[in-house]
Amino acid sequence: MAYKITLIPGDGIGPEVSEATRRVLEATGIDFEWDVQIAGLTALEEKGDVLPDEVLESIRANKTAIKGPLTTPIGSGFRSINVALRQALELYANLRPSRTFEGVRSVFDHVDLVVVRENLEDLYAGVEFDTGTDEAHDVIAKINEYADRPVSETAAVSIKAITPENSERIVRFAFEYAKQNDRKLVTAVHKANIMKFSDGLFLHVAQEVAKDYPEIEFNDRIIDNMCMQLMQRPEDYDVLVMPNLYGDVVSDLTSGMIGGLGVAPGANIGVEAAVFEPIHGSAPSHAGKNEANPTAMILTGVMMLRHLGEQAAAKKVEDAVAAVIAEGTAITYDLRQDRDPSKAAGTSGMADAIIARL
Ligand code: NAD
Repeated sequence: MAYKITLIPGDGIGPEVSEATRRVLEATGIDFEWDVQIAGLTALEEKGDVLPDEVLESIRANKTAIKGPLTTPIGSGFRSINVALRQALELYANLRPSRTFEGVRSVFDHVDLVVVRENLEDLYAGVEFDTGTDEAHDVIAKINEYADRPVSETAAVSIKAITPENSERIVRFAFEYAKQNDRKLVTAVHKANIMKFSDGLFLHVAQEVAKDYPEIEFNDRIIDNMCMQLMQRPEDYDVLVMPNLYGDVVSDLTSGMIGGLGVAPGANIGVEAAVFEPIHGSAPSHAGKNEANPTAMILTGVMMLRHLGEQAAAKKVEDAVAAVIAEGTAITYDLRQDRDPSKAAGTSGMADAIIARL
């Protein structure tokens, strides 16, 4: 039976990298029935709504979606459509693996890290009060009734809320991921030495959850020290679990360590549904030129295959991607030393080379 998957091609370079990915996934011989949905700028232009109801309905029904990047138009009423999608579907875990492929320009080699980012709370949730507003004045006045040090009346305020429930759920997800993927170490990343209550809670919960997984090593690092150590000894780390904002930053850092956004896949996993998407955005300056790197989106497809239990096909695609990059001819401009699009393969040409290796 075919897998019914919601496919959101996305904006900018999204349709091109999505089409490349669809072709590669179909070339594995697995049957897919694509339920194509539009969101973002494309949906605003065609339907007058950046996140039409049918997108969420389709993902809820199919339970698995793969999406290209979305552009959030200014004034659309959303801080980010992607964040809205994650929150509406309660996609609590953001999984961002970073592994080096031979042939990709990078300062580091042999990097193999997985960032597990809490996806729903923390400073990223968007609970904010702008400077000079009545709401900010009220919130600040209330805080100042309790705080040892007063918050200035002119401040803009963003709320960092960390709950034990979401901390436990994400740390457990990280350990389960480690268990299922034969990973040896989980590191909790935090700033509990300064944010003793919010990050302190996250750390305490992580330490408790770790006791349920004695077969997996556990340690913790303070976020700033973590960044330094990743630059010095990335091989000492394995699965990194952290609150939302740190995860946002650290996953870009680890993407940079493996050669950039063009090769960095991602997934958002919830209880009811999973949405697979590359880390990169819609890169509008490359849109419609058949020059964007499809690797991140194709590797996102590999993550989806694993999620569906299609381990053999996932390995086949990953190996084909690795072989094409290592060979170094049918690759997009960003993977070339000279970054010259005129000498590089296009998005579709790179997908063709990957399909030929399957
Ligand atoms: P971006 O990822 O689109 O681009 C950053 C840089 O990386 C650019 O130089 C771009 O050319 C390059 N790049 C990214 N993907 C590439 C690829 N596949 N191949 C070759 N080069 C690639 O980030 P941005 O410029 O900050 O954002 C552009 C738009 O994308 C914004 O509207 C933003 O909101 C949106 N965005 C969406 C998502 C998402 O849908 N998940 C994520 C990030 C940004």
